[in-house]
Amino acid sequence: MSYNNNSYGGGYGGGYGGGQGGYGGGQGGYGQQDRMGNLGDNLVAQTWDLEKMPKFEKNFYNEHPDVTARDEAEVAEFRTKHEMKIEGHDIPKPITSFDEAGFPDYVLKEVKAQGFPSPTAIQCQGWPMASSGRDMVGIASTGSGKTLSYCLPAIVHINAQPLLTHGDGPIVLVLAPTRELAVQIQSECSKFGASSRIRNTCVYGGVPKSQQVRDLARGSEICIATPGRLIDMLESGKTNLRRVTYLVLDEADRMLDMGFEPQIRKIVDQIRPDRQTLMWSATWPKEVQRLTQDYLNDPIQVTVGSLELSASHTIKQIVEVTSDFEKRDKLIKYLEEAMQEKENKVLIFASTKRTCDEVTKYLRDDGWPALAIHGDKQQQERDWVLREFRSGKSPIMVATDVAARGIGMCFPFMTPLLT
Ligand code: ADP
Ligand code: MG
Repeated sequence: MSYNNNSYGGGYGGGYGGGQGGYGGGQGGYGQQDRMGNLGDNLVAQTWDLEKMPKFEKNFYNEHPDVTARDEAEVAEFRTKHEMKIEGHDIPKPITSFDEAGFPDYVLKEVKAQGFPSPTAIQCQGWPMASSGRDMVGIASTGSGKTLSYCLPAIVHINAQPLLTHGDGPIVLVLAPTRELAVQIQSECSKFGASSRIRNTCVYGGVPKSQQVRDLARGSEICIATPGRLIDMLESGKTNLRRVTYLVLDEADRMLDMGFEPQIRKIVDQIRPDRQTLMWSATWPKEVQRLTQDYLNDPIQVTVGSLELSASHTIKQIVEVTSDFEKRDKLIKYLEEAMQEKENKVLIFASTKRTCDEVTKYLRDDGWPALAIHGDKQQQERDWVLREFRSGKSPIMVATDVAARGIGMCFPFMTPLLT
């Protein structure tokens, strides 16, 4: 009952409603990876004798003299100005420029080549924390530059480890909730890791395994993975986590929302406990806090901005309360208005994959160039939908908020509309 027809136009009605469904049996809708019920059961419990295991280095932080020279009052003022709150002991001072971050030249050159004016707040505080080898939690809103906050220290970490040998798995493992996000993270890793010949592999479900298996076999210092497919690869012996010393849980809140907690726990239990663990999230719910307590060792934390997801001030927001009955009519009226501008694009969020498909079908039946994107679509189809939307060929995209998280920031003319 997967979406294996490629008829983008007419295929939206079918596919749902059958018995076992793709909804993951009461797991909050997204835990589809657990469909078989026993994913990960074949993983062998690990025992760690750290005395016998190879030692490794994880503190690479050399504070810049300008940073050292700043007194506590200046640091406090900087943190207040950037709405940073910190928790934990011995937290390094924030840096205030790329040059202060202490990255080697080969990393710094790549960053400067991006033309970014300055580090974002989460980067200012996150880089020294991550570079110093401590377990850490970084909380900042979507689009605030969290990926680079862990990618650059990861590159430094890798370059200080012994080279991979035949049969070794990755040194850096990044767990992410969706394929889109995994692919985006991969592209950042590729950009910044290229100069030190760091290889990466992206491992996610919904596409054939063969290419991913080949990439893993060839050896990759960085593996970016969605939990289900990674467990599959581990169980079938296509990779292992014995070399992982830098573990990143990206969008931790979203992974837990999606029901990945059991898989995350199975994966983390396969990794040596003296690894460095970094958790990144846009929000800080109880579930994420619990995961932190269980898997992070004496963590330090930075929170940028308020813990409530706040609305952006640069976007005009209109809230209309309507009945279900009126919703579709209002949507069409709104679209008629929005689509008068030729370059306008409209992104419509739906709460479930099913609604996403229903709204898309409804719009298409009414003649609107709408396409749907969500986690049940094949990777090829999602890529295609994104391309159509980006290029403006299909300026209306209906998405579940999960699918949409990973694609934010790209659309200057975007109008979000909740259904
Ligand atoms: P998050 O993971 O916090 O949602 P991302 O890491 O995806 O955010 O970053 C969002 C965008 O900001 C990306 O396109 C990224 O390249 C860009 N970005 C990262 N760091 C900076 C910076 N210092 N200045 C400007 N843009 C940045
Ligand atoms: Mg991110």
